[in-house]
Amino acid sequence: MSDSLQLLYLTDADKHVQAVQIPWELWRKIEPLARPVLDSLMKPSSEEPVEPLPAFEEFLHYWDFRYPYSPAVNCPHCGAATQNWRDDPAHPFRLTNANLGGLLVFHCRACGATIRQKHFRDHMAVEHTAPKA
Ligand SMILES: [Zn+2]
Repeated sequence: MSDSLQLLYLTDADKHVQAVQIPWELWRKIEPLARPVLDSLMKPSSEEPVEPLPAFEEFLHYWDFRYPYSPAVNCPHCGAATQNWRDDPAHPFRLTNANLGGLLVFHCRACGATIRQKHFRDHMAVEHTAPKA
């Protein structure tokens, strides 16, 4: 092993390896290779409930309000915002409920607030519930 490949294994009291430290120069070389793997591992866990997309599709299908549907979502609590909650790669909002009555409920992933978009015939109203302390 050359001097530039000094890996430092961090072990617990029982000598089980817990982590590996690698030199910055080495990390810079392998980061482009490691990043896609790390990103996929750090994606939201599958324990998050599935978004009710079929209900949302139905909501859109029966849309008969007097204005076009807007996929923009804003969090009144922390200011997070997206122009399109479905296409935004950061996916700052998770849909938690959709119904034909015109209600869309989102969870703000930044602060945990609940955002309710209530669609009425002529306008859409937004209500929110602050995250639990
Ligand atoms: Zn928020």
